[in-house]
Amino acid sequence: MTTDTQPNPIGVHALVWAGDTGPSSIAFAVGKTKATGFDLLEISLHDSANLDVAATRDALKAAGLGVACSRGLAFDADVSSEDPAVVERGEKLLHDSLAATRALGGTHFTGEAQPYGMTLGLEICNRYETNVVNTARDALVLADDIGEDNVLIHLDTYHMNIEEDDFVRPVHEVGDRLGYVHVGENHRGYLGSGHLDFASFFHALADVDYRGPVTFESFSSAVVMRGLSNDLAIWRNLWSDGEDLARHARAFIADHLHTSRTR
Ligand code: MN
Repeated sequence: MTTDTQPNPIGVHALVWAGDTGPSSIAFAVGKTKATGFDLLEISLHDSANLDVAATRDALKAAGLGVACSRGLAFDADVSSEDPAVVERGEKLLHDSLAATRALGGTHFTGEAQPYGMTLGLEICNRYETNVVNTARDALVLADDIGEDNVLIHLDTYHMNIEEDDFVRPVHEVGDRLGYVHVGENHRGYLGSGHLDFASFFHALADVDYRGPVTFESFSSAVVMRGLSNDLAIWRNLWSDGEDLARHARAFIADHLHTSRTR
């Protein structure tokens, strides 16, 4: 493995470790994230009802790990809905999620983040998961409409593969407004086992001197969260050993960050 002279925190999505965020799953995820050498744990707040925020904050702090939070909104909480009750439910979920992220010690989430000194990341997802924003160019227009300095763009290679022309132009267009990155293969399995051109993507990140988090995101039917698994169409078992997967991903990302900055 390369020596880390690169500035980016390297993260891992908690769904690599466990499908829920109850106390034992969080303890397991924090322990494994630390043991496999990551800097940051991304927690999806789809199961926030079972998340012990104070205990999780303490566990992250004790392990010396950073945290970021993410959340998708299902149809019954779609803030772009024409039904005011549905919009209201979505707004409440976003506000609650922001409060939880802040209480966990995180600085990256979505919602009305500025009063708390936090960053709102607009994740660009593919057409099968949302009809609101599918490309970096769409996201930049939306961010301009919002007009707040703390609204940044979140790129994900899995979604880019479906919607963008290539892996370079969107990164260059987003430039210094890139705030968060998900790295996932075209099938969301082991990095490098699919066909995505990660060399081009990481070179583009270096071109714009991106220094934010790079978080590995992968899903398998081996780790299931009902609801989320259905929303994201996770039917196939792409891996069974999350620790082996995560160790490999950590090294893969570190190597690409390193080599992309050696030119
Ligand atoms: Mn993602």
